[in-house]
Amino acid sequence: MLHVVHHADYMAPRPEGGTFRFDKYYLVMEAVRASGFALTEHAPDPMPREWLEAVHDPEYVEQVFRAAVPREKERRIGFPVTPHIASRVRHTNGGTWFAAKLALEHGYAANSAAGSHHALHHTGAGYCVFNDLAVAANRLLAEGDARRILIIDLDVHQGDGTASLLAGREDVFTFSAHAAKNFPARKARSSCDVELPDGMGDDDYLAVLDRYLPAIMADFAPDLVLYQAGVDPHEGDRLGRLALSDAGLVRRDRYVLDLARRRSLPIASALGGGYGEDQRIVAERHARSMLAMAFPQANLDEIYRGLRPPR
Ligand SMILES: [Zn+2]
Repeated sequence: MLHVVHHADYMAPRPEGGTFRFDKYYLVMEAVRASGFALTEHAPDPMPREWLEAVHDPEYVEQVFRAAVPREKERRIGFPVTPHIASRVRHTNGGTWFAAKLALEHGYAANSAAGSHHALHHTGAGYCVFNDLAVAANRLLAEGDARRILIIDLDVHQGDGTASLLAGREDVFTFSAHAAKNFPARKARSSCDVELPDGMGDDDYLAVLDRYLPAIMADFAPDLVLYQAGVDPHEGDRLGRLALSDAGLVRRDRYVLDLARRRSLPIASALGGGYGEDQRIVAERHARSMLAMAFPQANLDEIYRGLRPPR
């Protein structure tokens, strides 16, 4: 059973201006539903304002809530923050927290959006408005749902916002493996950063994870894992610089799931990045990522072949 968090507001209509494609979130859910695997959809509540303000500058939170974000910040974000976007990000942030709560109950759950790892204290950046990973981690710890949280960020871009928002905390460990030459140009410092060379393929990538993650699991001893499962390390991604195959991404996701399972840790994933000309193919990569973790034994090779209408 895949427990997936989704909300109608995730599919905000595309604002005027900006390059971000919001139709992906609709297509992700379509792809998950078309897979035929058993699935339960859960709708999140909006993240309460105080938990956003616990991590972000209250003045910035106010700007987002009023849909009055200064243009300079909107430029950093990459799209205008309309009232609909303001509602959307409250729901996507509520969604990652809710996925973690569901993971506590079911072992694994997915948020079908978010992973907004570039959002910083006083501004959004890089298509991210509020940092759901930092907001959720802080709330889970404050409310006693977890005592030590490991955030594994395997998006091809560094989780710079997450790293800076959670810097210095002893109850959170941030791990980011990303393409060294990719955005952001100026990197933050995670608890552990691994910079990867352009063009890295499946086997080398998996070897890197295996070099770091088991030791981090053992040393930090988390009781909950948040996973930013961006599919932009894929060889076909428009913004990635790595060369993972579809099968490589599935191996990656199952590797991370298995790390958590071995220690009986709940693990929740957030969608993360994925960019391409054909949004349907990107959406299928995200769907496969969630299914790979919810159904670790299933053969996913054939899953989306033949489902796509001829073009
Ligand atoms: Zn990314």
